Amino acid sequence: MYALAINDLVKRYPTGTEALKGVSLAIEEGEFYGLLGPNGAGKSTLIHCTTGLAQPTSGSIEVFGHDAVHHYGDARLAVGLAPQEPNLDWFLTIEESLDFHGGYFGMTRKDRKERATELLDAFSLTDKRHEKTRFLSGGMKRRLILARALMHRPRLLILDEPTAGVDVELRLELWHYVQRINQEGTTILLTTHYLEEAEQLCNKIAFINGGEIVATGTSAELAAEY
Ligand code: ADP
Ligand code: ADP
Repeated sequence: MYALAINDLVKRYPTGTEALKGVSLAIEEGEFYGLLGPNGAGKSTLIHCTTGLAQPTSGSIEVFGHDAVHHYGDARLAVGLAPQEPNLDWFLTIEESLDFHGGYFGMTRKDRKERATELLDAFSLTDKRHEKTRFLSGGMKRRLILARALMHRPRLLILDEPTAGVDVELRLELWHYVQRINQEGTTILLTTHYLEEAEQLCNKIAFINGGEIVATGTSAELAAEY
């Protein structure tokens, strides 16, 4: 069973744009999988289809064997999403934001408290836990988004361009965090338009362009070919 298996996925928007033209990919449990491609390649569309935010036109998506197209509820608990836009709830504190998210995923009060304590520590946010999220620095916001996505202990973490628009120093810091998450056993799907990011982090890379996967391999294999 794959962590994520996508088969012949097509997404046509009402505008007529075919953002995905029959994409297939398979991610093994434990992998750090990179979807690399330029703006407009179809990366966000693929993530939206995989997280129940968009309905594919045709094709199948399975998350740990659960049909994510027709019964997203079954796949939902297995997926954590760190969206590209830091869509934080501005009036909540860091701690409340984690707690709220845990509630959304049906965690008990006790479990939410324990998990939040663990994540605040892991992402060096404990001292700031009572700060409103709207006052956080860019780096703290990005860390909170990772922590929030991990709150319900998803087996598959989806990172949508986690370092787009951040400076080099923060990028390195975020790389360190996501590598650790993967080493601790969480499967990761990361989208990026930075070749270097995919090479540094991912053991498997798929190049997407114009809604099609044009090459797949390890970073060493792709470097040899291109
Ligand atoms: P990426 O995330 O790789 O930048 P997207 O998935 O956002 O790519 O976009 C793929 C294509 O689909 C682009 O041509 C984009 O303009 C188009 N597209 C994305 N979202 C929509 C939408 N809601 N309606 C119509 N076209 C869209
Ligand atoms: P907004 O309040 O901006 O509309 P949502 O309520 O859609 O945001 O999502 C809040 C957070 O819940 C997201 O940032 C993400 O971490 C998580 N989330 C949303 N949809 C999903 C999903 N389909 N699978 C897993 N996590 C999700």
